[in-house]
Parts: sequence; C-alpha cells; structure tokens
Amino acid sequence: MDKLELLRQRFGYDDFRPGQQPLIDALLQGRDVLGVMPTGAGKSICYQLPALLLPGLTIVISPLISLMKDQVAALTQSGIPSAFLNSTLDAQSYCDVLRGARRGAYKLLYVAPERLEADRFQELAQDIEISLAAVDEAHCVSQWGQDFRPGYLKIAAFLDALPRRPAVGAFTATATAQVRDDIERLLGLREPLRVTTGFDRPNLFFDVVRPKSKDAYLRQFLSERPGASGIVYCATRKKVEAVCDGLQRHGFSATRYHAGLSDQERLDNQERFVYDEARIMVATNAFGMGIDKSNVGFVVHYNMPKNMESYYQEAGRAGRDGSPARCVLLYAPGDVQTARFLIQNGEDNELVREEERELLRQRDLDRLDQMTAYCKTTSCLRACILRYFGERAPERCGSCGNCSGALEERDITVEAQKILSGVARVEKRFPSSLGVSSILDMLRGSRSQKVRHYALDELSTYGIMKDISRDQVRTYIDLLIQEGYLCLTAGTYPVLRLCPSARQVLFHGEKVTCLCRVPTD
Ligand code: ADP
Ligand code: ZN
Repeated sequence: MDKLELLRQRFGYDDFRPGQQPLIDALLQGRDVLGVMPTGAGKSICYQLPALLLPGLTIVISPLISLMKDQVAALTQSGIPSAFLNSTLDAQSYCDVLRGARRGAYKLLYVAPERLEADRFQELAQDIEISLAAVDEAHCVSQWGQDFRPGYLKIAAFLDALPRRPAVGAFTATATAQVRDDIERLLGLREPLRVTTGFDRPNLFFDVVRPKSKDAYLRQFLSERPGASGIVYCATRKKVEAVCDGLQRHGFSATRYHAGLSDQERLDNQERFVYDEARIMVATNAFGMGIDKSNVGFVVHYNMPKNMESYYQEAGRAGRDGSPARCVLLYAPGDVQTARFLIQNGEDNELVREEERELLRQRDLDRLDQMTAYCKTTSCLRACILRYFGERAPERCGSCGNCSGALEERDITVEAQKILSGVARVEKRFPSSLGVSSILDMLRGSRSQKVRHYALDELSTYGIMKDISRDQVRTYIDLLIQEGYLCLTAGTYPVLRLCPSARQVLFHGEKVTCLCRVPTD
C-alpha cells in the first residue's frame, strides 16, 4: 500500500499537510529528519505513517506520560498495534508489553526517556529490529528550551548502542535557532532533512490590552461574542476559581480546569467544553495538551504567561478550523512580578543538578523579559512573535492590535521629568537606588511601609504624581526604560537607575514623546 492510500485508509485524511510528505519520505529512505512545526500542524503522522511501512518496530520517545495512553488508544482504535512503557504501568503490564514487543506484536512503542536506561528495555532493544526512532518534543534535550529533560541527553548514546542505528526523526514546535542547533547536536542527528513549516497563523488576530479592570474588560469581550467558544487562561488555580465564579455569577456559561481538581471533575469539565455545553473554559496552563477542539473562537490570557513559547502554544489553540479567531492578552505590570515569583519559587525540576538549576532559572527570567517586551511593544505583534521563533516577518501585518489601532504621538515630557527627577533624588539618598515599587510609592505619595522605612516622604519629589494612577505611572516608567532614559538592573532585586541620556531631559530641554494607541472601540 502506498503512503497516500495509507493516510486515507488508516488515518482518514484526504491529503498531506505542508511538511508531512518530505519528512515521511526521508524517514522511509532511512534518513534522519528534524521537523519543526507549530502545535497542531500534524507532527505525529510524520512518524506514525512510516512506522506502518517500515519493517520492525518504531519507538517513540516522548516526555508526555499523561498523553501516551490516549495516543496508544487512538492508534489501537485505528487498527495500528501499539503500546507504551512508562512509570504508570504496574510490573505485570510492564512485562506484558516487553514480551509483546519481543514477539513483534506492535508497530509503535511509546517510551518515556527515563525508560531507555532500564536493563530490561536495553535487552529488548538489543534483540529486536528497530527501524525508526521518533523523538517527540525534541526541544526537551536543550537547556535553552522551555522544558529541559535531562533524560533526553541519554537518547544519542542509546541509539548509538543499538546493533543497527535506526533513522531518527526529531520533532518540535520550538524553533529558535539555539534550540534547533542543540537538538541536532545533542541527539546526534546525521545530516538530517530539516523541514520548518511556517509559524504564522494568518487567521489569528493578536492583541495586547491594558484594561483598568480585567474583569470588566473580559465580560465586555465575551458579551460582544455571544455564540463563540473560547479559553481564558489564568496564571494560578486561585485566579481560575475567582474568574470562573465571577463569570458564572454574571450569567456566562463557564467551566474550569486546573490541577487542583479531581481527575473526574477535570474530565467532566473538559468534556462539557469540548462538546459545547460550556462555552468558556477558564483554566491554568494544565489545560489544552492533547485537546483537539477546532472551533475555539478566542483565547484570552487573563495573566501574562512566562514565555513566548507557552503563549504561542496556548493562543494557538484558537482558530484550528481556519476561521478568524482572536488572541488577547490582558496585561498588567503586576503580572511580571507574579511570573517572576513563579519562576523563582516554582517547583524545581528534580531531575536537574543543583548547579544547573540556577542557569535554568536565569534563562527562564530572560524568556520572561522577551514575553514582557511583547506586551509592551507598539510595533506589529505578529512580527514580534514570528521573529522570536526565528522567522522573517513584514514590518506590519495589518491584522493585529498594534497594526490596526491608530497610534497617536503624545508629549509626555512633564511626566518624564517628574519621574526622572524622582529617581535622581532617590539615587542621591541611596546610591545603589531602589526598586520600582518603592519609587512608585514615593512618586504617588503612598504611606506604605517602604516609604516610612526609607523616609521617602522627606524627598521633595514625594507625591508629585499623586493624581495619576499607579498603573499609568508604571506605564510611563516602562516607556522611559524602553527609550533608554532609565534602566532596570538585572538580578533578584532589580533597582531603577538613571541612564546618562536622562540628563538631556532633566537639564537640556529634550522632549519625550510616546506612541499611544487610540482605542478603536
Ligand atoms: P502536533 O503534534 O503537530 O501538535 P498532531 O499530530 O497532534 O499535531 O495533529 C494535530 C491535528 O491535526 C490532529 O487532530 C490530527 O488528526 C490532524 N491532522 C494531522 N495530519 C493531518 C492531515 N494530513 N490532514 C488532516 N488532519 C490532519
Ligand atoms: Zn501586526
């Protein structure tokens, strides 16, 4: 049977999607491949179909233990014999699967990377014919990727130790150059065929807004789209509860999903959303993996995610059917602090050595900076995303919030002078300067503990911006950082400092302007 027939009969699709055919052809010829495709593009077929045509067994190395079972169930249902090996199996089932594999009962065997080193798996691998090894979520091998898994570093040695090295297919949705290089090098790919399909999703409209009240904005947004179904992502379980309760109280058909709910409730809620009984899913990032709902009309991020990879993956769950869909991020400067806190106090990856942890944390913080830059940019949002993923993009796409909202130039010299002189006073009193929140407290004349502790109310700039909201002052500070008048130092306790060019504004009459979006509605 040829591959197109197989695609139609076994998988039920009419045709290949971009990228699938060249990857499949290369693997069938025994050549290594690196497939970089966005989530939902259809990476699985690229190794599942060759598995059926090649002799022997295909092993699929995947870190997503929770998904293996579903994938294997789906394959089995399509009449493709397959099984998985991971820590969720009891001893008996584990033995059964090993025995089945030895007998040649399966075409595909999914394994968690940690299993590769297990003695009994090693013995099996030496004895049977493995013609293809697929490495799913291949970015896990890279410390530059968002979810590094040390087990992935052992894959290359495992493959080399096989009696015959199989063709190796690496697949990922993360396309930054560093990660791609790491994948090729650390998995030991041999002259792989590289296929990268475009990351752009033209039917998605991207937007970043800074509403005064996120809840009011969200309700307005949902009311304007009465029939549409969509996801609202929040940073924490607590926020999911609060937002979902709030929406339900206002009569919206919402349900929720996070790791704190029982398995049963998670499953029920997920099904209610997938089958359109609940129109809105309020969830943490635990929701969405392996969910295949095509008519998601919007994805709202109530909080800023920790990095662009997560953002694009989550936002990308909108508009899978190709219809226009909206991806809106509700930004508040406080989200940056929350994300920073989550990174610094998050669960440590137990598999990683102590000295690596600090490095990983630093990279997470760098990624957070890039995410923050996306929220603050006044240029094309789509271009910002595509460039992050290493793709070229036109200056303006014409269909994102920044391209379509009119921009207006405003003179903010007076505000800038107030802020810069405030920072100058603080630096004079405390040469190593203070953090943004202390400076905000000082400018806005707050009576906070920090103000009393540092006696900031004795400075002549105390309270000079008391008529402007804290968020607004924070926005001005961000602009001044972006324009190079102020800088925020790196490290655990960043402080705000004057840059040399601030003198031009303070003493030489330089004007400061900013491009502000004029709301279209
Ligand atoms: P990825 O791993 O790239 O995120 P999947 O392999 O899970 O994506 O596929 C995403 C969706 O696309 C699945 O619902 C799959 O059934 C569907 N799909 C894959 N290939 C095709 C194709 N050639 N034609 C139509 N649908 C496809
Ligand atoms: Zn744009």
